[in-house]
Amino acid sequence: MPLTPLLGHQQTRERLSAAIRADRLPQVLLVTGPAGVGKQRLALWLAERLMCEAQGDEPCGRCLPCRRVAGLVHPDVHWLVPIPRPKASDSDKQVEEAGASLEGAMAERRETGRWGPPDGMASHGIAAARLLQRRAGLTSAEGGWRVFVIGRAERLVPQESSPEAANALLKLLEEPPAKSVFVLTTAAPGLVLPTIRSRTVPVRVGRLSDGEVREWAVAQQLDASEEEILAARGSIGRLTGGDDEGARKARAAAVAVLEAIERGAQETALVSIRQGVAQARGEFTAMLDALADELASRARLSATRPGSVRRAEAHAAGIEAVLATRERVQGNLNPQLAMATLAEELASLGAA
Ligand SMILES: [Zn+2]
Repeated sequence: MPLTPLLGHQQTRERLSAAIRADRLPQVLLVTGPAGVGKQRLALWLAERLMCEAQGDEPCGRCLPCRRVAGLVHPDVHWLVPIPRPKASDSDKQVEEAGASLEGAMAERRETGRWGPPDGMASHGIAAARLLQRRAGLTSAEGGWRVFVIGRAERLVPQESSPEAANALLKLLEEPPAKSVFVLTTAAPGLVLPTIRSRTVPVRVGRLSDGEVREWAVAQQLDASEEEILAARGSIGRLTGGDDEGARKARAAAVAVLEAIERGAQETALVSIRQGVAQARGEFTAMLDALADELASRARLSATRPGSVRRAEAHAAGIEAVLATRERVQGNLNPQLAMATLAEELASLGAA
């Protein structure tokens, strides 16, 4: 089943199309906007637009390249999504494993034409960075454009575990090969590593209209009530349920952690026990994501107030600490221990 069609974002499409026509399309884009509005789908639309034989302002949807992009089988369109950390210890085997995980994720998308949020543990780890680098080093299979879509770019891991892979990735984004385009997407640009963000050209997209959400639901033969469509507030992800319940729980847990730290040392010491974080690693990393998100929004808030530069810096350092913890937990560190250390760290940074 081909991907569900892209709805909305008309102005953005026109701008991108005009840039292609003028031969001025930036090679590294960062598409930002609310969750579930079609950012990755827009990136794939761009791939279709570049590959389409008709070369109109919109991809024709009928030619072979268009159908191959929408069917997720175009050899020059590479879609990277967060995947579980490979188990192999050998780095070549890790890259193979990452390739197989990606292929699995794509097979699922080919079958349903849609996708939901990734597992809380999934990320773009070092193996994925190497895989990307390897694919980017090949020549185009069809002799034309190559497009690399990196969904959820905020999950590109911090660099501490492998500076050499991280630097190779930065170099790739700094000097992308000719006729290649990298489209990173994220709903949380504040969490994308600044070294990566600074190498991208931002493309902001907004919410869909209620009419567009309705149109999508009808096309998908989704039995959605008018109330549900309005409640989706312009997000197809929210309409289809995504993982709203899980996200709400994660956010509540993150806020509780920050509140405990604010109450002082005694409460901080108890955070990991009170949160009962030891159970599911997936839930724990979802909580860490929510924690980083919360710190990012506090940082934005304090940046607008005079004389609070230090506070904003503390939030930024706190986000780094959360992301580093996230990586360590994926490397099998016990979540409870990780939470205790992180709480201490956030308290001493004054990041809560
Ligand atoms: Zn076409």
